[in-house]
Amino acid sequence: MGSHTAFEIAGAVVSGAVAPDHFLRRALRRAAEQADLNAFLTLSPEEAISSEGPLAGVPVAVKDNLCTLGQTTSCASRILEGYVSPFEATAVTRLRRAGGIVLGKTNMDEFAMGSSTENSAYGVTRNPHDPSRVPGGSSGGSAAAVAAGIVRCALGSDTGGSVRQPASFCGVVGIKPTYGRVSRYGLVAFASSLDQVGAFGATVEEAALLLSVIAGHDPRDATSSRRAVPDLLRGIARDVEGLRVGVPAEYFADALDPAVRRLCERALSRLREAGAVVIDVSLPHTEHAVPTYYILAPAEASSNLARYDGVRYGLRASDAGSANEVYELSRTGGFGAEVVRRIILGTFVLSAGYYDAYYGRAQRARARIASDFERVWEEGVDVLFTPTSPTPAFQIGERTVDPVSMYLSDIYTVTANLAGIPGISLPIGTVDGLPVGGQFLARRWDECTMLRAARGLEVLLGGTGCPAGRRGLPGGAA
Ligand code: GLN
Repeated sequence: MGSHTAFEIAGAVVSGAVAPDHFLRRALRRAAEQADLNAFLTLSPEEAISSEGPLAGVPVAVKDNLCTLGQTTSCASRILEGYVSPFEATAVTRLRRAGGIVLGKTNMDEFAMGSSTENSAYGVTRNPHDPSRVPGGSSGGSAAAVAAGIVRCALGSDTGGSVRQPASFCGVVGIKPTYGRVSRYGLVAFASSLDQVGAFGATVEEAALLLSVIAGHDPRDATSSRRAVPDLLRGIARDVEGLRVGVPAEYFADALDPAVRRLCERALSRLREAGAVVIDVSLPHTEHAVPTYYILAPAEASSNLARYDGVRYGLRASDAGSANEVYELSRTGGFGAEVVRRIILGTFVLSAGYYDAYYGRAQRARARIASDFERVWEEGVDVLFTPTSPTPAFQIGERTVDPVSMYLSDIYTVTANLAGIPGISLPIGTVDGLPVGGQFLARRWDECTMLRAARGLEVLLGGTGCPAGRRGLPGGAA
């Protein structure tokens, strides 16, 4: 099974060597062969395909919380079952304008709340490396679609790790850009101060290619930055010599699986051998990140999800006797357990009398977490290197009974969202055949240095990610 990179696909399509729909057909075939992964909620063969642009003829999987014209956008929720938006997300429009093809909409945790894709109302997605395990989440379908070799690139969203953690579990690359780098217009809101559209790729360069297409100011999103987007693909080939890589002690504490730690240490040795300067640093407020995130994200979610009232969107209870009952029955029937839990939690922390004790304090903690990062940048660190997740992919069902155990697994990813900085996860090896991801974090707007570090490490580890067929994959990046 030959796997052409996104660059090769676009090259072949632009030059006319293959028909513009050649790779779309192949991707549809592969998606059908691997339907039991449940990576896609819908597949959408396109009518007109452009043979121009940096993504000409490249099939891209799109997370089902990004609005697409002509395809449903359900957020893997019953409450939006069958919903077709009258507008399209800017990231999707830009992807199409670059010649990319929306192959289909991918499975996810309902409204992006979760770390395993088990919270989907349409069944769990399976990890292509081991179908008894989760692909991570919430963008699990997008990550699995890349890992299974169906697509080379995919879009996701990252509010607390939902691109980086599934990338880590599936052995692919995932980028969360700086907050404001990519327009959130048409991304169904979860926690607006944390949400960012992100890019998956089979390799660092392919993820960077997709990011370069979707990045940039959009007047439809007031939080999107007017800053010019640097050439993300140019500096990427520079090696890591002289790069100052900080290693935060707090990310290597007890919660970390020893096998993941060993792979991180091996990655750091390679970086050192290649001339990077590895520096021990401290981010002392890290321990507050999970509780802070799990107050702020539900608070924002409880407000954002108030719009699903059974009147304006999707599901409406048919047996309601009054307006109040329409709201109550539609919401009760439409939302899954985790979404309900977050709405209740968020409503509680925002309620009069508790607001300052929870929401106010969490905001102050957020500021401290952000200033920890500021301090290490001031100390001259270019990028930070950390594990992406404390463990490799866990078994389906393993953490659903205990939501807090699921929340705790977000420990290394939520900090970037709280601070608004960019992060990337890339494969750094495997443990018992399961991929493990390493994460680079960088200053706000400095995706270039982050990509240089990630591409450098990818080369040093001899890898191009480990997407391939499914089951019994060769040993990953190592
Ligand atoms: N796992 C985190 C949560 O459940 C992050 C989700 C995300 O980034 N969308 O909220």
